[in-house]
Amino acid sequence: MAAWPVGAHSHIRGLGLDDKLEARPNSQGMVGQIRARKAAGVILKIIKQGKISGRAILMAGAPGTGKTAIAMAMSQELGDVPFTALAASEVYSMEISKTESLTQAFRRSIGIRIKEETEIIEGEVVEIQIDRSVTGVGPKTGKLTLKTTDMETIYDLGQKMIGSLTKEKVMAGDVIQIDKATGRITRLGRSFTRARDFDATGPDVKFVQCPDGELQTRKEVVHTVSLHEIDVINSRQQGFLALFSGDTGEIKSEVRDQINQKISGWCEEGKAEIVPGVLFIDEIHMLDMECFSFLNRALEGTMAPVVIMASNRGMARIRGTNYQSPHGVPIDFLDRLLIISTQAYNEDDIKQILKIRCDEEEVDMTEDALAVLTKVATTTSLRYAIHLISTGYMVAQKRKASKVDVVDIKRVSALFLDEARSVQYLTDYQDEFMF
Ligand code: ATP
Repeated sequence: MAAWPVGAHSHIRGLGLDDKLEARPNSQGMVGQIRARKAAGVILKIIKQGKISGRAILMAGAPGTGKTAIAMAMSQELGDVPFTALAASEVYSMEISKTESLTQAFRRSIGIRIKEETEIIEGEVVEIQIDRSVTGVGPKTGKLTLKTTDMETIYDLGQKMIGSLTKEKVMAGDVIQIDKATGRITRLGRSFTRARDFDATGPDVKFVQCPDGELQTRKEVVHTVSLHEIDVINSRQQGFLALFSGDTGEIKSEVRDQINQKISGWCEEGKAEIVPGVLFIDEIHMLDMECFSFLNRALEGTMAPVVIMASNRGMARIRGTNYQSPHGVPIDFLDRLLIISTQAYNEDDIKQILKIRCDEEEVDMTEDALAVLTKVATTTSLRYAIHLISTGYMVAQKRKASKVDVVDIKRVSALFLDEARSVQYLTDYQDEFMF
């Protein structure tokens, strides 16, 4: 079994499409669901080109048909574009209002690519000295000398650089580049071969001579941050620390207005670019009328992300009203959505997904057990069957078997109820439960 925690979608590496955006039957951890994956690929392509923002997509289909998996695959393929995932019920919190929660989710999904000129020092590493007696293991104190026109600055950067240098495995004789603002070091290559390798476990002092070094230059660097990060940093005394605790509280609308103005100024000056990302909202039927009105309005905004919603409901009551509607989504809102539907899997698809999950969880399973597990998935649910992989492994281990076999699957499916059996149990014994 895998030595690290394996998430429900950790086997998904991408949408598994070819150059023509056709879905390969089994690729990048994705199996089947050909039409939905292709549709997702088309949308992804337009998002990557930065051509759409403020669009909303609904992934509709039965439970376990891969709606979240496809959204995850899209996020994997987006690269530098922000992606935020939210379960609709998360908007109901005691700390912040529903609309504030949605606003934060929107602004987390919009990236600002900021271009900055930064001072970069380039030079050749001449000398690295470490006083290991202080730490016993890694470098704690040290001196780095770089052949460059700006020796003073390099010396001032001191210990911070020595730490980064050893992490980056830089050696005396390497040509490196240091971003003065962040202290970040990039290894550009080696300039001569006589240098002895710098080794963090070697003798404490190494000293290498080298020819004359390079010049100090200015370079353009690009950072991508989300609008929400900019909001938080500007709205609280503790600044960016709130980003780690997640406790950002409500952000004043004046702060956001100021930030919006500043950013549009940067965009006009060519210093920044807005990158609309993706906001994924699962269990969309949990949103109420107020949230839908908010989404309707927010999607019209100039800085809106692409919103992908998912629903496994058929006709459902719109929360906060007595009206029934498809997926519990108001008709006028539904009308502005692009809908991608996911289909039920056939037995072969299910078997392949289960096999991928066994590989992901590093569980060896006999062919017979996989066949039984596939049957279990078709009669119960794919998600239930996936749960039986790791539990089956535990049971197999108990009887000192290296592979999960039919007996183990039978044992765990008797131990853990699937949804239908659980409902049946409740119906049979409801008198014994508390009311
Ligand atoms: P729900 O409506 O209950 O939220 P869902 O449609 O979002 O369900 P998922 O959670 O995406 O379903 O799928 C259930 C499990 O099956 C997940 O572990 C998912 O990664 C996996 N899975 C679903 N479809 C595929 C697929 N086409 N290829 C690979 N794995 C898949």
